[in-house]
Amino acid sequence: MFCARIVRSIRLFLPRFFNNLMMNRTFTMIKPEAVAAGNAGKIIDMITSNGFKIIALKYTRLSSEEAGIFYEVHKERPFYGELVDYMASGPIFAAILEKDNAVEDFRKLIGATDPAQAEEGTLRKRFAESKAKNAVHGSDSDDNAAIEGNFFFSGRERY
Ligand code: GDP
Repeated sequence: MFCARIVRSIRLFLPRFFNNLMMNRTFTMIKPEAVAAGNAGKIIDMITSNGFKIIALKYTRLSSEEAGIFYEVHKERPFYGELVDYMASGPIFAAILEKDNAVEDFRKLIGATDPAQAEEGTLRKRFAESKAKNAVHGSDSDDNAAIEGNFFFSGRERY
């Protein structure tokens, strides 16, 4: 009886344990100009058909203050003001995505910051207008993915 309970617990626990080891998460935003151009559906389709599972998703809009906080790491860069104005200029989609090696694989899928430098088949090559208005954000590390996901989503908005 006792043994059976232990075996049952292990069988329940192990898959979750290995899933957590193998899968990781990243955070993305579909930026205002891509939403305004009607490209959000196509971008989400490309994301999911490349193996990313949507854990959380919302259609929202950043205030200037929120955009300033989100991009605070870029405060010293000359384009900070322009970046904040742009990210607050219209609605966006924000999402948490899951896949093994999510952060690195998603950076590959979005492509270089400047679409002129982005490889064929990347989201930015296909949808970005310019280096500034580059359609999609992707976290650059696991730590930032967690911080950025927590900026937008509570625990009960993730499935
Ligand atoms: P990312 O990690 O590829 O998004 O690039 P960065 O972290 O270097 O920059 C953050 C965001 O700032 C980019 O995605 C662009 O939207 C914006 N950005 C980068 N370079 C420039 C620039 O030279 N001018 C302006 N206006 N925006 C920029």
